[in-house]
Amino acid sequence: MLLLSLLLLLLSPPLCLAVEVKRPRGVSLSNHHFYEESKPFTCLDGSATVPFDQVNDDYCDCKDGSDEPGTAACPNGSFHCTNTGYKPLYIPSNRVNDGICDCCDGTDEYNSGVICENTCKEKGRKERETLQQMAEVTREGFRLKKILIEDWKKTREEKEKKLIELQAGKKSLEDQVETLRSVKEEAEKPEKEAKEQHRKLWEEQQAVARAQREQELAAGAFKELDDDADGVVSVAELQTHPELDTDGDGVLSEGEAQALLQGATHTDAAAFSDRIWAAIRDKFRSEVLPPDLPGPSAAEPTESQEEQPPAPSPPPQEEEEEAEEEEAERGEEEEEEDEEEEEEEAEAPGEQPHEPPAPLVPPQPASPPEEDKMPPYDEQTQALIDAAQAARSSFEEAERSLKDMEETIRNLEQEISFDFGPSGEFAYLYSQCYELTTNEYIYRLCPFKLVSQKPKLGGAATNLGTWGSWAGPNHDKFSAMKYEQGTGCWQGPNRSTTVRLLCGKETVVTSTTEPSRCEYLMELVTPAACPEPPPEPPAENHDEL
Ligand code: CA
Ligand code: CA
Repeated sequence: MLLLSLLLLLLSPPLCLAVEVKRPRGVSLSNHHFYEESKPFTCLDGSATVPFDQVNDDYCDCKDGSDEPGTAACPNGSFHCTNTGYKPLYIPSNRVNDGICDCCDGTDEYNSGVICENTCKEKGRKERETLQQMAEVTREGFRLKKILIEDWKKTREEKEKKLIELQAGKKSLEDQVETLRSVKEEAEKPEKEAKEQHRKLWEEQQAVARAQREQELAAGAFKELDDDADGVVSVAELQTHPELDTDGDGVLSEGEAQALLQGATHTDAAAFSDRIWAAIRDKFRSEVLPPDLPGPSAAEPTESQEEQPPAPSPPPQEEEEEAEEEEAERGEEEEEEDEEEEEEEAEAPGEQPHEPPAPLVPPQPASPPEEDKMPPYDEQTQALIDAAQAARSSFEEAERSLKDMEETIRNLEQEISFDFGPSGEFAYLYSQCYELTTNEYIYRLCPFKLVSQKPKLGGAATNLGTWGSWAGPNHDKFSAMKYEQGTGCWQGPNRSTTVRLLCGKETVVTSTTEPSRCEYLMELVTPAACPEPPPEPPAENHDEL
């Protein structure tokens, strides 16, 4: 506004210039009445009164220097240049006749030999031009601002309408999601049952196979222990396997052997398999087979079965399970499953030394065979899975749509209720970003969102603050924005940025500075910041122009 009034001043036609008023050199028009040739002169501060011929006599009489307005005699005096055509100016009196042109009308150098050209008219013309341009920018900017305001009004109405539509549509989408959720849950029930059934079946098969192999292991061990092949294992026969020692002295005593036989003196194969094998299996070391293979002794006892067709179901795996023993009982029927294993085992011995040092007898397979994986689902189960998966996909898709819609609604609500200035003139900045590239950095301002800085030669962006609030002074709140809580400075505060909004025809970031550490200042030129220009320049008198 100051500029505008000044502009009016300067633009007023210079047709009413007052007649040149006679006054001593260096005296302003407004002070000329203090200098009357007919009277003694009283210093302006009242400190003394001197004859008028001591005014401008190049000798300082007044403390305030007012008797020497046109000379350099008083150190604290000042000289007034009228600068007709431009702006009047006071200069310190020591610049009078110092050989340098200070006043555009050249009146300060009347006696120094320096000839000063009068540049006031030219300067005045240039200034008028500048001010005219600025006034033109303001007028045009304000015109654009009115358009921005109208645009936002329309946009906002559209967004409000859209919001109402979305809110209405949300209800039916929610219902749809719930329906699809029920459909999905309904489809998942039989799917779960079928999958569980499949797994259970497989686990049962595995258990049966495990039990069977365990029996074979027991039979093999029994055969090995039964040195005299009389169909029973005696205490003495058991004692040939000192690794079964229970008290840790390295010898299986008769008592210990008998204890292992549960107090009996001998055991037959059935009792051995049922009751004794479990207690000794982990210690028992076969002398016959390289035992660190899956079911090492299994090949031995069942030599009867040589060639078998490959098992249709996956071979059993070794898993420690509580139910092993019980299941061993019903495992008979699936004998063929084990044949595959025997074949595998039969190949292995060639690769291994025949009497490896201290392998445990039935050890876990070093790595579970691939066949341990559950077999593929049967067609019916797979169909249920496919159906459930389709129901899940539909449900998830609907749920995603609902989430998207909710986000759109949130964004719309936020935008509509945002404070975009007195008439919403700043709304157009909402989804825009503006950049300024300096020697080192690319600065990026996304109004109402954030400010960032990125090294020009690549590297991560630094957050200089996210939208905080309008931050202009009380009477002009919308002249500045504050962005806060940016990336923390090393041993300092979080970065923040103040954005000053200046009137212009275009929207552009014109400068970025860091006036104090981690506090940035950015200038954004925008039509939305243009004030309403005054209607018509009224004509006024300005004598000194
Ligand atoms: Ca004097
Ligand atoms: Ca000078």
